[in-house]
Amino acid sequence: MKEYTCAEICSKIKELFNEATPLDSDCGRLCDKSCCKGDSETGMVLFPGETTSLLVRETNGRKIAVCEGVCQRENRPVSCMIFPLFPVLINGKIKVWPDYRGAAVCPMVNHFDEIIFSKKFIRAVKKTGKLMLKNRETTEFLNGITEEILLEKELEDKFLKEGSK
Ligand code: SF4
Ligand code: SF4
Repeated sequence: MKEYTCAEICSKIKELFNEATPLDSDCGRLCDKSCCKGDSETGMVLFPGETTSLLVRETNGRKIAVCEGVCQRENRPVSCMIFPLFPVLINGKIKVWPDYRGAAVCPMVNHFDEIIFSKKFIRAVKKTGKLMLKNRETTEFLNGITEEILLEKELEDKFLKEGSK
């Protein structure tokens, strides 16, 4: 299998999202763009090898782009491009899941089963996962985020179960 550098992978991922958006309509109208209402304390994790013109801070060994709600759309971080979905690696296979880390922000995360996501967007997220497998560092990153999403999903399921008692 051909191995790409992290920067090559980032650039290939960004190309996938030139035109692919979560819905065929503007999902920002569902929530008044709540995922873009950042402040100096919030941010998006950068993918390995990703560069940005946004301010970057480091937390737990990860680079975080700090967003105060404004960016050049074509240069937004990959995390923004693929939100509210994320590729996860389960039993060696890439699956496309809602990004449960963003459940409090995005109404589409908890209503994933009811939403008709753009097929092009889902394909792009899946391809993102497959590209990430072409480099050791991005594969480790994918494994780490998969663990975080699984954990958030467990907490979410537990919360919903307890709420229905
Ligand atoms: S929070 Fe979700 S629904 Fe709202 S703009 Fe972001 S991705 Fe779209
Ligand atoms: S970087 Fe851009 S797309 Fe991402 S949260 Fe900030 S304003 Fe929204």
